[in-house]
Amino acid sequence: MATVPTDSIHLLARALLGSLGIADEAWHLEQVSLDAEQGSIELFVSPGRPVLHRCHRCGEPAGTYDSRPRSWRHTDVWGYATTLRAQVPRVRCAVHGVQQIDLPWTRRGSRRTRGREAEILYWLRGASVRRVARRFDLPWALAARLRDDPPE
Ligand SMILES: [Zn+2]
Repeated sequence: MATVPTDSIHLLARALLGSLGIADEAWHLEQVSLDAEQGSIELFVSPGRPVLHRCHRCGEPAGTYDSRPRSWRHTDVWGYATTLRAQVPRVRCAVHGVQQIDLPWTRRGSRRTRGREAEILYWLRGASVRRVARRFDLPWALAARLRDDPPE
């Protein structure tokens, strides 16, 4: 198996994070793992310096409540299945309760990055829902919903 200098992986990861819209000061790259046998890349990020969070419903400042591990499938990098993982803060709004903060790389409730969704939407313009669902390992109903009601 070919070896890849660790510095190269981190340069790749930095470029990837930039393309995800992740500012260096807001999120910290904790770890990059590349599994050549499985053909996968995983990026682990965590919140950087403390920032003032706001309720996504009312915009009022909301204190940090806890955090939860989450992951999102990203576009393949060099044919490797690429996943972004993060410990995502949840905040407590006095009016709207506990909720996850908004993230720059994904839509609320999605398990894919914006880049991955854009790739799926591009394919849906020219291929059947069944073919796209198989290509991206999605439930058929989800692919159909993305086609019929594409996110903004
Ligand atoms: Zn609120």
